[in-house]
Amino acid sequence: MCQGVRPLGTLAYNRAQTRCEEGLEMHHPLEDVQDFSDSCIRCGLCARTDCGNFSNGEPNLGELCESILNGEETWDYAPFTCALCNRCTINCPVDLVASRATKPLRALLLKQKPELRPLYRKFRTDLKYNVFSALRARDAGDITNVTYIQGEANLGEDANHTAFFPGCALYAYAPELTAKVSQWLRDEDIAAYTLTICCGATFYDVGFYDEYDAYRERVQAFLREKEIKRLVVTCPHCAHLLPQLIEGMEIEIVRLPDLLVERGMISQSTETITFHDACYDRSAGFFGSAARSLFENATFKSMPHEKRDCLCCGGGGMVSVCAPDYCAYRRNLRLAEIDGVDADRVLSTCFSCVNSLQRGVGSTPVQHYLEQIFDCPVDWGEVYASVDALFADPAYAELSENEELTLVD
Ligand code: SF4
Ligand code: SF4
Repeated sequence: MCQGVRPLGTLAYNRAQTRCEEGLEMHHPLEDVQDFSDSCIRCGLCARTDCGNFSNGEPNLGELCESILNGEETWDYAPFTCALCNRCTINCPVDLVASRATKPLRALLLKQKPELRPLYRKFRTDLKYNVFSALRARDAGDITNVTYIQGEANLGEDANHTAFFPGCALYAYAPELTAKVSQWLRDEDIAAYTLTICCGATFYDVGFYDEYDAYRERVQAFLREKEIKRLVVTCPHCAHLLPQLIEGMEIEIVRLPDLLVERGMISQSTETITFHDACYDRSAGFFGSAARSLFENATFKSMPHEKRDCLCCGGGGMVSVCAPDYCAYRRNLRLAEIDGVDADRVLSTCFSCVNSLQRGVGSTPVQHYLEQIFDCPVDWGEVYASVDALFADPAYAELSENEELTLVD
């Protein structure tokens, strides 16, 4: 296949001219896709991955970019069935990363196919009423009472400028566990606040780039107003996206598992454990490594694919919205590996992974490692009953029509 073509015209504009009022650089999906296509040497290595996105070894990611840039429809579903797990490019000879193609491709396709946008409405955390904010508000008794921050600045100086950032899945599905972690961070004089806002992944990853750029400005204004200087993050996906969300701000990001290790929160579990690593922890392994070290009394069993080569849980990339069969295929691959190592329990550092694996039919109990550390198991039967009740609630259906933005009031 030819390389270096620019069928949609040259991209000679100056990035500096596309900054917003705050000086933040806006996103340029067309340029990103073209850059990827130009850099890919079409070796085909990525297309040999068994993720379900490459049938008969094609298209490789460079071909996918080129095809969509050329306006062809042959593979235009593929960016949306990609889990954004980046496993296919761990050995890319020119160090490309799959999601740097598939995310901007989604952004381009979302503009070309506006009919796709409503499919993702409930995950639009840039809108005030979304599934996560509604679940949390409903748990507190009033579906319309969306809050963004809890806590009081009545601790030490550093803690008064520090906020826990649990991420949407944890705060929406596990409010009790979130409250326990928040309390521990207060008791340890680490963080006075808990933020119940999103890192943006739930809509940025789908390709809502313009909405993300606007959301980022609102988040930054909010963090500035609250004088937040440090964020304690527990989700590898949030940790991956937060640097972009707080770009240009002097805010430090600290990983919760590192703090737990530092403060000696060692589990007494003597079970046999296997760890499911999160895709967004694939390259660095910071979360998986720290979380494993909290279980020094347990016996570990390794899976054939873990750490840098871990398999997706099936829940990555919001694929469930448009292609649940792809999710099921990936989840089943992972669950077969988990059951194959015959451990007492599988632990993960990502709450969304736990949610996805719970939905399958594996026989090994699945938990987030924080459930063990804080002795606060999540009842997934209750969680799913609560989600079903929310979706059946006419008040939620009405709120889903509401286009009010997050962090405006
Ligand atoms: S492995 Fe890298 S260079 Fe090879 S086809 Fe895939 S993206 Fe292109
Ligand atoms: S699902 Fe993962 S392995 Fe498959 S194309 Fe997407 S990033 Fe690559």
